Formats: sequence, structure tokens, C-alpha cells
Amino acid sequence: MTKPTLKQDVFLAALTRQWQAFGLTSARDMTLHQWWHAVSAAVAEQLPPQHDTVPASQKRKKKLRHVNYISMEFLVGRLTGNNLINLGWYDTVAKALEPFEINLSDLLEEEVDPALGNGGLGRLAACYLDAMASVGQPGIGYGLNYQYGLFRQRFVDGHQKESPDDWHRSEYPWFRHNSSLAVSVGIGGKVVKNDDNSLRWEPEFTLRGEAWDLPVIGYRNGITQPLRLWEATHPHPFDLEKFNDGEFLKAEQQGVDAAKLTKVLYPNDNHSAGKRLRLMQQYFQCACSVADILRRHHFLGRKIAELPDYEVIQLNDTHPTIAIPEMLRVLLDEHQMSWDDAWHITSRTFAYTNHTLMPEALETWDERLVRSLLPRHFQIIKQINANFKKRVSKEWPGDETVWAKLAVHHDKQIRMANLCVVAGFAVNGVAALHSDLVVKDLFPEYYQLWPEKFHNVTNGITPRRWLKQCNPALSALIDERLQTDRWVTDLDLLKGLESGVKDKKFCKHFRKIKYENKVRLAEFVWHRMGIKLNPDAIFDVQIKRLHEYKRQHLNLLHILSLYRQIRDNPKLDIVPRVFLFGAKAAPGYYLAKNIIYAINQVAEKINNDPIVGDRLKVVFIPDYSVSVAEMMIPAADVSEQISTAGKEASGTGNMKLALNGALTIGTLDGANVEIAEQVGEENIFIFGLDVDEAKSLQKRGYKPQSVVKKDKHLKAILDELASGFFSQGDKHAFDLMLNSLKQGGDPYLVLADFAAYCEAQKKVDALYRDTDEWTRRAILNTARVGMFSADRSISDYQQRIWQAKR
Ligand SMILES: *Cc1c(COP(=O)(O)O)cnc(C)c1O
Repeated sequence: MTKPTLKQDVFLAALTRQWQAFGLTSARDMTLHQWWHAVSAAVAEQLPPQHDTVPASQKRKKKLRHVNYISMEFLVGRLTGNNLINLGWYDTVAKALEPFEINLSDLLEEEVDPALGNGGLGRLAACYLDAMASVGQPGIGYGLNYQYGLFRQRFVDGHQKESPDDWHRSEYPWFRHNSSLAVSVGIGGKVVKNDDNSLRWEPEFTLRGEAWDLPVIGYRNGITQPLRLWEATHPHPFDLEKFNDGEFLKAEQQGVDAAKLTKVLYPNDNHSAGKRLRLMQQYFQCACSVADILRRHHFLGRKIAELPDYEVIQLNDTHPTIAIPEMLRVLLDEHQMSWDDAWHITSRTFAYTNHTLMPEALETWDERLVRSLLPRHFQIIKQINANFKKRVSKEWPGDETVWAKLAVHHDKQIRMANLCVVAGFAVNGVAALHSDLVVKDLFPEYYQLWPEKFHNVTNGITPRRWLKQCNPALSALIDERLQTDRWVTDLDLLKGLESGVKDKKFCKHFRKIKYENKVRLAEFVWHRMGIKLNPDAIFDVQIKRLHEYKRQHLNLLHILSLYRQIRDNPKLDIVPRVFLFGAKAAPGYYLAKNIIYAINQVAEKINNDPIVGDRLKVVFIPDYSVSVAEMMIPAADVSEQISTAGKEASGTGNMKLALNGALTIGTLDGANVEIAEQVGEENIFIFGLDVDEAKSLQKRGYKPQSVVKKDKHLKAILDELASGFFSQGDKHAFDLMLNSLKQGGDPYLVLADFAAYCEAQKKVDALYRDTDEWTRRAILNTARVGMFSADRSISDYQQRIWQAKR
């Protein structure tokens, strides 16, 4: 494959055009932010044009089905630095900027993260696009071009405050607007009969979907693939006929201002709210994407019946499920196909990734909502349901309970996960344990019907961003030790670092890099928050969305335990520890916000209590994002992965941290199980109830009060939280959190795992005192987590789902 090169003079000429466009007379007049913009735009200009067809270089692999990865979220993070690294142009550009006394890495800090995702699910989508481009899997990402990404978070007196995240998409230099790809999307209206008795949807009004492409650049292989983000606009007002017909006004009357549709990302993670605008977003995205997939297919001269031979549509969770009835609608109503033919094509094209077992996250849509917005789709879903009912009656004659479970349309609700399983050819979970539970707990009857549909693909992360880019010093050490940088695309090569544990010089160097990364993070915390951190302390990191199942409050209870022990025994000998948090809570999730408030209030007390000194610091870094993650992860000693067993589908933060040499303290949940297998039980701190134990405890009737009764220390901690001691005398400040733990029945078994967690934390403390042993285990973590590369995940998708023999 030809790798494009960047010539300095060509780059400088492009740069000149940029500052001239700003109306300046010299490059030196640019602000640092303008420098970021100019450099990004100048580089973007040099990218090879993106052909809409399969590039010649990939033609040899024409057996590979093209992957259409549809996701409501792509948490891509900053692009400029990443693109320069993947292109192999970083050094050239850095050199070209030297005469201007502009430091490339400072300039990269100017980029506002395109935060078009909530958390793990959106970040996974971004990692997979990077990996597809890097391994040569032809593919495209389809998403929405939100004007406002995930809200910005700040703390006011310890409380989370949200503000809109305007990332200035209209000026974002990496976008390429492709106006010829615009599609129109209907909404509302009714279904009418044609003369020949076939059906046709007459929408109430139409919207226009415009395509904005971000380049996804493979790692130094010359491949660039699009992430195509749709923006909703009004149909052109100069379309006079439509304008006079009142289409434009009709939309307004319905309360659908087109621009509203792609204004904001819903800030929920692992939760579904069933809102009308959200369903419209989902349909809008799916309609645009299905139209684009079919357009490309026709453009390449292929027959519609061949669609599944060339294209796969991978649904990232159920959010884009409406693409299934949309595909059927187009085939039935626009291509006049028979139901059987349309079904045959559709059911061999769609595959679905399940991301959660939690009921509150499983999407169901009110039938009235679906019927009013999408009347034709509603009919199609009913037809799917009726056909499937025959299949179920054959397998379980007369069994209404099974049908009540398996139906796609039931009790006036449309169940998106069921629709995916019935209409797709593959279903996968995202870690071995999770995929097991998908089959055993969530979809056992479906598994009985179609065992061949079910797969596991353990999540992965891209080593380009999560090691090479975020931890340049460690990357350089790895290059030196392995005498190659091939690990960047073949992460199993990190195994070669294992022998390094016997090399004193290497261990010292590894430790020094971790220390320097901690110094860098400490400087950030000092400048941003005015808290001084001791880089010799253990940096104990929990970064992830705030959710009860992730149990940030378990971490908090342990911190409070240490604080009590220090006050009971002011000479207590513990290794100094810095507890670092990063997490956003969904704005309507009051309990999660209460946990944030509790952590911040406890932090305030502990950080200012002279009796504690340097031994404990608690830091909640505001506005957690991909770029904050890139700074925190290389500085972590301990990775907190303490979800209630059975609740975290996989996790990917766990992988990023272990790759950067943090030791995990975690439950046997999600991918922690596989991480433990890879790094070895002796190199990870596993504690607490496993899935079966948690289930059986719940079944026996778990009583949190009985745990509290038996544990005086725990009782004292909970009582103190309710005493006003941490909240200026307000005894009710933490009621939401405390009530859920006590009267609320502690649904996530926080108190049940508390003692085991504290025991495991003691082992962390003890091990950290043995510097050499700690370093040895940290190195083994980095060396042994190669399988969590997103490249391996993509290869699993290829073998098991996308390219599997049919
Ligand atoms: C990786 C990542 C996540 C996912 O973290 P988990 O610990 O797996 O929940 C969320 N947000 C950001 C910004 C990330 O980079």
C-alpha cells in the first residue's frame, strides 16, 4: 500500500493559505488556537481524496464484505494529533513549525474534543473505526453530527453543573462536507394504497440529511475511510414547489425544527428514556445511512439481491435498530419486492451488538409514538412480529409466557433488542462473561431457536491512541526494548517485554516514565484545581461514567475507612495515596449526582485536614473526556474496576489502564475476567462476589442492614456521612446515596462487597512498598494485555460475523 508523504514546502504553502484566509499578514500573527486550526486544515488538505468506491488497493480483498458501523455515538476525541501519528507526519509537521517557535504538542491542546458520545459505547465505536482502517477492513461509520456534544461539567460547591458543549462543528477543520450525498427523510403522515394495492408511505413532511465526513486514517497504510455524520436541515427553501406546498411550515407546526434534531446528544449512559425527539434522531440517522448504503451499492453496479454479499450493517447497541424496518420499507415500497425477498436480504445483512443486560437500558418504544412518527415502519414491525409468532408457536405450542417474552411487539411496546435478534443474522456480547449471560439470562429461548446466531467479541481499544499517542515515553521505551515499533499494529508483540522484568535498567526506566507521567498529571491538578499532589503517592484512578453499578461510592467508603483509621490512630502507617476520579453523571440521574457531591465534600474535608497530611488526597477532576483520559491513564498506578459482578458488560477503561502499567483492583466482571486470565491472578487484585454469588445472595434475600450491624467500622462511616460532618451540618446532604444503600436495599451490593474491597486495598498498600515487585507486576500487565487491541476485536468480528461462511 502506498503511504502518502507530506513535503514540508507543500505543507507550508497550505499553511500560508490558511493564515491568509484568516485575513492576517503573517503566520506569526496567529493565536495558538488559529495555529491549531491552520495546521489541521493544511494537513486535511493533503489527505488523498476519499473515493466513494472501494479503493483500488482494497480491490484484491473484494471478498471482504464492506462494514457499515451504525452508532448513535462516536467519541472520537481530538483528531489532529492522532491523524498526524497515523499518517506518519507528526515529525515533519513539528519540524516545519520550529522556525515559528510553535510547539506542536502545545498546539494540539487547543483542540476541543468532539465529544459526540457518552462513554464506553461511543469510544468503542471510535476505536473500531481506527482498527478497521488500520487492519484494512473496508468500512464506514455512520452517526449524527451533533451541534452540542456531551455537556461540559463543572463543580459549584461540590455539585455538578452542566453547560452546553459547543464544539464549533461549523469550523471544525477535519470535516469534509459532501453536498451531493444529501438525502431526504420523511416523518409522520400516513400509509396509502397504490392502484395495484401495494402500500406507500406519505410522510407529513421531510427533512434533509447532509453528510459531513471525518477522515478515519489507518496506521501508516495509506487507507482513509469516512466517519459519515448526518446533520438535519430543512429541505432547501428554494425548492419553491415544496415550500409552497407548506412542507416547511408543516414541519414547524409539528414542532420539528429540523435544526433541533441534531442539536444535542442525549446525555444518558446505560439508560433509555423513550423520548420522541430521540426516536426521531434514531430514525433520521438510520434513514440517511440506509439510503447511503443502497446508493453506494447501486453506484457500484451491484444488484439489490446481492446486498448481503457485499455489505454488513453492524448495529452498535439497539439505538439504530429502526434501520431494519427502514431497509424493509425501501425494498418493499420503493423496489416493489415481495416480503420474502426483502426479508431474505435484510435478515442476512444486519448484525447486532448487545451492550447491557440491565432492564433500564433495554430500549422499548411506545407503539403510539412509533405509529405516529413512522406509520409504515409500524406496519412492517407488526408483520415481522406476526411472522415470528408462527415460528414461536411451532417451537412452544400454546405457551403464552414464552411468547410474552419473545414478542417484538407486546403490551403496546416495541422491543428493539428482540427486533434485532429476530431480524439479524448475528448477535454478540462484548466480553466472554457478558456473552455467556446474554445467552443464559437475557435470550435463552432465542438461543434455543438459533444457537448459530450468538457470538462473543471481547471489546478492544486502539493501541494507537491509548499507548502510542497518550504515553510517548513508554512507547519509545517499548520500541527500544523490542527493537521495533511493529507492536503498534501487532500488540501481542508486547509479550516481548516480559523478559524486561529481569533487567534492572529497564525496570528503572519503566518506573521513571510512570513517575514523570504522574508529575505531569500533578502539574495539571495544581494548575486547574490548586491541589498539590505527591508523585510518590499511589495514584489510584477511577474514571468512567458515574453509575451506581460502577460503584464509585464503594471507592468512597474505602476512602472514608482510611480517613477514620487515621483519625483513630494519627500515626497510621499507610502508603500515601491520591484517589483520582473522573466521571459525569447524567443530568437527570440525581442519585449519581449525589455521589459526586459526596465525593467532593469528602475530598474537601480530607484534603484540608492537617492530621491527614500527605497520606490521603482525593481529587475529582472535572469534565472527564477522552483528552483528560489520555492524561490520567499513563499516570495511574491503580485501576479501579469495581462494578457489581454481572453488570459491566465489558469495560474498556480497564484495558487502557492495564496497557499503561496500572494494576487493576476489580471484581470478576466484564472483561476483568479475561484481563485476570491474561496477566495472571497474581498480577491483579480480584475481590468480592462473583456473578453466581451475587445472584444467590440476592435470591436468598440480601439485607444490607445486617451487614452494617455486624461491622462497627462501616456503621461509623455511614453514620458520619449522615451527621453533617462532611456537609456543613446538613444531615440530609447525602440522603439519596445513603437511603439507597440502607432502606433502598443496596441493589448493587456495595455494602456486601465493602469488607472484601478493603482487604484487597490493604494488599495494594502492602505491595506498593515493594517497589521492585510492584514494577515487575506493572510491566507484566503491559506485556500481557496485547489481546485487548481493537485490531484483535476486528479480526474476531471478521472471522465470526462479518466474513464468516454463510
Ligand atoms: C474508555 C472511556 C470510557 C469507558 O470507560 P469504562 O471504564 O470502560 O466505563 C468512558 N469515557 C471515556 C472518555 C473513555 O475514554
